[in-house]
Amino acid sequence: MKTSIDTLTYETVIGLEIHAQMKTQSKMFCPCPTQFGAEPNTQTCPVCIGMPGVLPVINKLALEFTIKTGLALGCRISAFSRFARKNYFYPDLPKGYQISQYELPICEGGFVMLNVDGKDRRINLTRIHMEEDAGKNIHEGAASHVDLNRAGVPLMEIVSEPDIRTPKEAAAYVRKIRSILRYLDVCDGNMEEGSLRCDANVSIRPLGQEALGVKTEIKNINSFKFIEKALEYEIERQRRVLKEGGRIIQETRLWNTSAGITESMRSKEEAHDYRYFPEPDLVPLVVDERWLSEMKKAIPELPDDKIQKFIGQFKLPPYDADLLASERQTAAWFEEAVSLGANPKDVSNWMMGELMRLLNETGIDIEQSPVKPAHLCGLITLVSDGTINLKIAKTVFEDMFKTGKTAGELVKEKGLVQISDIGELEKTVEAVIAENPNETNRYKAGETKLTGFFVGEVMKKTKGKANPKAVNEILRRLLG
Ligand SMILES: [Zn+2]
Repeated sequence: MKTSIDTLTYETVIGLEIHAQMKTQSKMFCPCPTQFGAEPNTQTCPVCIGMPGVLPVINKLALEFTIKTGLALGCRISAFSRFARKNYFYPDLPKGYQISQYELPICEGGFVMLNVDGKDRRINLTRIHMEEDAGKNIHEGAASHVDLNRAGVPLMEIVSEPDIRTPKEAAAYVRKIRSILRYLDVCDGNMEEGSLRCDANVSIRPLGQEALGVKTEIKNINSFKFIEKALEYEIERQRRVLKEGGRIIQETRLWNTSAGITESMRSKEEAHDYRYFPEPDLVPLVVDERWLSEMKKAIPELPDDKIQKFIGQFKLPPYDADLLASERQTAAWFEEAVSLGANPKDVSNWMMGELMRLLNETGIDIEQSPVKPAHLCGLITLVSDGTINLKIAKTVFEDMFKTGKTAGELVKEKGLVQISDIGELEKTVEAVIAENPNETNRYKAGETKLTGFFVGEVMKKTKGKANPKAVNEILRRLLG
């Protein structure tokens, strides 16, 4: 258990490197396809398997995706940048070097705004650069295999400053970056398939100390849950080491999912270990001003713009705004419903409740939802004009989702129109009172919380169709 003295003594410092696989059809430097899940080594050519004498050619779309991401994150776009060779040997890297960017990356600076536990936090970025992915080693029993389908797949590496202070902030940061990448449609953000992976640099220092402590790097974390868990574990481990008078060693560690611990993998390389030098096979990149301004114009409204709009213009609570803005398609669905005249908060309630629940249960994307924004507007109108009550509306919504029919059609088909006729409701209430003399006496003796019981009985008799407001009024009147 953490004691409060522990949390007061040390401050956590976290910096993240996110590797985002770009949503291009072809690889970074050759025309091979990038699709996930193909037979091993079927998506390769002499360039990406590192044959001697071949020449890489830059994928223009990958460059465009990286610049757009930089623009969306407020980075400075370098007018002049270049690729560099990062030299190291590994079986999944047949060239013996990875083409990356080093001293002249395409994007520098920038920042991301987070809201964690109601507090606004600005996380600054160091840089974004392009690089190619390595292949994949597969170990089976005594044998090891290499699959080079992934070798040469275009990646963006988004590097943050060490501005993150808690595991929760780290997860929120990755969520925000993922959301922005998906809004821009430059990365599918699929963490299970490895399209988005993250390395975390973490250290602790006595509170108030300026100098950073010795950091460790946790490699290849590939789920939001693991980001928080791995960081929590690692911070606690470092605290324990320092408390026992030990020293933190700069090293790379791996998150062991099944054991729930980080384990030492190797001592951390320094940049000079890689002997970076400018890639001689590629000319430096010069970004044309006109192309840059075209790309600026093509940046869509981003999650933060949507959140502002949902709170300011549509008066949604921040919680709702945050949730509905997290995915471009969800935000668009919401905006369409509102543009059709529905009350924004009603739309939000239905979306965050029934719609999300049913989409999750069925695994359907919101774009393929059988209930369209116009359908929801129809249902909301039937509730607000008193044709059906909210409880019935929920069952109608489920039926709409199952059948794709409109609320009007279903209400008519199933005879679900709400009973608001006072005379008819009075008779039902009288019958319920007569059948329950015990509860009636208790109510009259002051146990007014029994109202719920009486309403429930009336609903049973009317198959849920009674107008609850009218029933409450009648009950109050008849029971005194
Ligand atoms: Zn290739």
